Amino acid sequence: MESDIAIIGGGICGLSTAYILIGQGYKVKVFATSFPPETTSNKAAAFWFPYHIKSDERCISWSRTSYEKYLAFMADPTSGVSMHQLLKVTKKESKAAGMIWQNFLPEGSYKLIEKKELKQGFKTGFVVNVPLVEAQLFLPWLMDNLKQNGVNFVKREIRDLKELSNQYRWVVNCSGLGSRELCKDETLYPVRGQIATTVPHQGLPIFLYEEQPFYIVPRKDATLIGGTYEEGVWDTTPEAETVAKLYKQAVSLYPELAEFPVNNCWAGLRPFRPEIRVEREPGKNIIHNYGHGGSGFTLAWGCAEDVLKMMGANMT
Ligand SMILES: Cc1cc2nc3c(=O)[nH]c(=O)nc-3n(C[C@H](O)[C@H](O)[C@H](O)COP(=O)(O)OP(=O)(O)OC[C@H]3O[C@@H](n4cnc5c(N)ncnc54)[C@H](O)[C@@H]3O)c2cc1C
Repeated sequence: MESDIAIIGGGICGLSTAYILIGQGYKVKVFATSFPPETTSNKAAAFWFPYHIKSDERCISWSRTSYEKYLAFMADPTSGVSMHQLLKVTKKESKAAGMIWQNFLPEGSYKLIEKKELKQGFKTGFVVNVPLVEAQLFLPWLMDNLKQNGVNFVKREIRDLKELSNQYRWVVNCSGLGSRELCKDETLYPVRGQIATTVPHQGLPIFLYEEQPFYIVPRKDATLIGGTYEEGVWDTTPEAETVAKLYKQAVSLYPELAEFPVNNCWAGLRPFRPEIRVEREPGKNIIHNYGHGGSGFTLAWGCAEDVLKMMGANMT
């Protein structure tokens, strides 16, 4: 049977949208210039956390939906999704700590920790239970699942949405930073993040000092040490000096890392837009789902469900 729906983009937003749509019986084809492991999504840290999200109310339900979805995926140990403790620290006193992120979490999933338990220099800290989505495992797992359920993947650059909108019932644009060109959307721009890695250390929590930003993520294949928040930078070559600084900071917090030097590094471009674009083009069969900045994994599943709602389908 011909596909009902064309999705542009094979990163977390395109794949999660495909997953939600086939769950409602749609036939889906995904077009992309690159698929995992060659997407920005593969460069993500990628733990659940509403990162650099300020006052967009939509993000609360998007984040919560995604949290629930990852809990469900955890039932399959091969999915690469697991629950972790995240240590969220700040140099501000608790009252000034900007706790907006707490609205995004299920009740009981975080607690304030005592000052004496904090690493030197930090004034407030929380332990938060969050899903860690190991992109190197989860994205291939998701692609396999989609293939088994009849989704077709086509490696092709789309230059104009009309190439597909005349042929498909719906076109969903999940092209991330590619939308800058595809939709002539100049409000979309890259925010580069650099990551260094060392050998795996399963005993560590996820450590997040958002203001800098700085984080440590204990994946099964590596310990990730990030990151940077470089607005408007397109170059994906990591810088030796930045990588060395990140590693030094990680060792100062967790001296056990000193024995294990940096063994890899990379830089990825977060697709940032002042307002995440999840909307239907008025009167057209085109729905946009891009511009998720540093929170694509955290928001993807809620956004995908909104795409479905815009098609007028019933949720099961
Ligand atoms: C260093 C770093 C750390 C991060 N950490 C986290 C984290 O801890 N938690 C979190 O939630 N998020 C994190 N993010 C953010 C997250 O990675 C992004 O928000 C997310 O990957 C965006 O997904 P996407 O599917 O929109 O884009 P992408 O993964 O970039 O996918 C875009 C897809 O569109 C395709 N495409 C583009 N243009 C076209 C075109 N014209 N024709 C056809 N195909 C096209 C591309 O080939 C690709 O397949 C991090 C990002 C970085 C860089």
